[in-house]
Amino acid sequence: MNTPEDNVTLDHKHIWHPYSAMDSDLPVYAVESAKGVRLKLTDGRELIDGMSSWWSVIHGYNHPDMNAALSAQLEKMSHVMFGGLTHSPAIELTRQLINITPEPLQNIFYSDSGSVSVEVAMKMALQYWYAKSESQRSRFISLRSGYHGDTFGAMSVCDPITSMHSLFKGVLPEQLFVAQPRCRFSEPCHDKDIAPLVTMLSEHHPHTAAVIMEPIVQGAGGMWFYSAEYLKKARELCDHYGVLLILDEIATGFGRTGKLFACEHANISPDIMCIGKALTGGYLTLAATLTTKEISATIDKGEPGVFMHGPTFMANPLACTAALTSIQLLLNSNWQNNIYRIESGLKAGLAPCKTFNNVKEVRVLGAIGVIEMKQPIDMKTITETFVNAGVWVRPFGKMVYLMPPFIINDTDLKTLTSEVVNVVKNHKS
Ligand code: PMP
Repeated sequence: MNTPEDNVTLDHKHIWHPYSAMDSDLPVYAVESAKGVRLKLTDGRELIDGMSSWWSVIHGYNHPDMNAALSAQLEKMSHVMFGGLTHSPAIELTRQLINITPEPLQNIFYSDSGSVSVEVAMKMALQYWYAKSESQRSRFISLRSGYHGDTFGAMSVCDPITSMHSLFKGVLPEQLFVAQPRCRFSEPCHDKDIAPLVTMLSEHHPHTAAVIMEPIVQGAGGMWFYSAEYLKKARELCDHYGVLLILDEIATGFGRTGKLFACEHANISPDIMCIGKALTGGYLTLAATLTTKEISATIDKGEPGVFMHGPTFMANPLACTAALTSIQLLLNSNWQNNIYRIESGLKAGLAPCKTFNNVKEVRVLGAIGVIEMKQPIDMKTITETFVNAGVWVRPFGKMVYLMPPFIINDTDLKTLTSEVVNVVKNHKS
């Protein structure tokens, strides 16, 4: 019989983890099971989850309603191809998504992951301009410190430094980048803040297909919250220059920032929107790209008369059932007040970090808490210390951040934040 230690050794030898080396001394922890906000390791230890498995597990692990809905769907069918066939999980989910997303978004393309939904969004924009006989509009404008995924198209619009554009030079399409908006959330956006985007659009709009950005929260590129006025102005500029606006709501969608979708902070709607992660409550992998009737109709009218994409597992019935159930759970809860409760808990709980010498800044928005350190974090030490303290927190770069499941109660939230405060206080880079 293989022991848990044998299994971890095999993992170390043969399996890549996200952004990892095969020969790595960074620890990986084997999870036996998970329930609510707790991960149970194979050695019996329990950790309070501060990550929602990267923004996704909003209702916690092993949720009875999610389990029941998935078991029922499993009895009917777990998968069927979407070419020429359809099914009620996809239809019901579509009805629901059309209801809850900004009104002009009426047409949906389902895919398997956030990165692919971004590829699809970029392709939609390109096919739209191609159909309008404007195929010279082939470039994308993106923000520095943005993150949109790891496939080649998505990577091309990620921050050029942190996404290693130099490594893939000549292979990645070359896009246009404007400075990160420095006007903060809930602050105004002055002319100087929006000026880089104005200049870029005024110079490059004739060959630009779309502007792509994460609304309000730049996630993996730096956990930065920017002004809703900036987003509003970006929408106006895209309209002015006749360029499409793609919003990547993959991390921000489904309530995390205190609005169902982050673009609602600015009261705007994109031409194309990507969603993923919390879409299925973190149960299964599913993403979607939504767009307007005008864009889909234009693509239909152009050559080759169809939208050129069709993944094998498109609109997987189990994943659509998970998404539908997760959205119903969210909408049937008092989710907005709950996010405000978590926001207050994060603000109060993380406040002591503001005075630490090794901390540059603490910022909180909705159910996202960020501690920006002055120096890059020693991942090995900090991960082990967090686990020994009974919490699951996965920093990157200089960021220690929390985005707990929405079901976390006040006691667990207090434990989570106070353990994080202790670990951060004593952390030496
Ligand atoms: N866009 C954003 C804003 C993301 O945060 C992520 C995932 N971190 C992606 C796209 C890519 O999604 P996925 O990892 O599911 O491919």
